Amino acid sequence: MTDPKPLKYSELPGISEQQLKDHHDKLYVGYCQKTDAIRSKLTETSLDDANPTFAAFRELKLEEGFAANGVRLHESYFDSLSPDPKLPNEQLTKWIDEDFGSLDNWSKEFASVAMAARGWAVLAFDLHDGKLHNYLADMHNQGGVWGTIPLIVMDVYEHAYFLDFVTARKQYLETLHPLIDWSNANELVAKYSLEKHRG
Ligand code: FE
Repeated sequence: MTDPKPLKYSELPGISEQQLKDHHDKLYVGYCQKTDAIRSKLTETSLDDANPTFAAFRELKLEEGFAANGVRLHESYFDSLSPDPKLPNEQLTKWIDEDFGSLDNWSKEFASVAMAARGWAVLAFDLHDGKLHNYLADMHNQGGVWGTIPLIVMDVYEHAYFLDFVTARKQYLETLHPLIDWSNANELVAKYSLEKHRG
């Protein structure tokens, strides 16, 4: 079962309660439910007609990737924000300085990725080279780089801000910028022993 994670906060300054609730309680919870529904359907779907043009099996596997990534990207997004945000810890600050020059430089590049993406901006620790990268994804299952640990995630689908900001994505990003919380990223550095993978 894909159990939805509750929000760690009840409000985010500058974001309406309805925007936050619609996003978490309807869209995110929907991805959890759909992930389970798709996986249940897969258990009763024939493997024999698998082909890359059209088959129930292919369609279900595609949507499994979309829904499962929808779950984890949204969890990372909600975990990347807080009304009481914390800074990166000493280890992460050192890596940000080495890979981007400074936290401010990282912020500028991340904001540009968030303006350029159709779906997601992701600061990830890449296990392949042991470095931090800002990656861009146009959809949950399109544009991500495998073998990475997402640390800070920003949702730039219009549903994330349309209720509050209509089409003003820059205003949405500027509202969330001071709320970016590194607590979860700091925990992930320890949880996955990322210092062992540092190049
Ligand atoms: Fe979203």
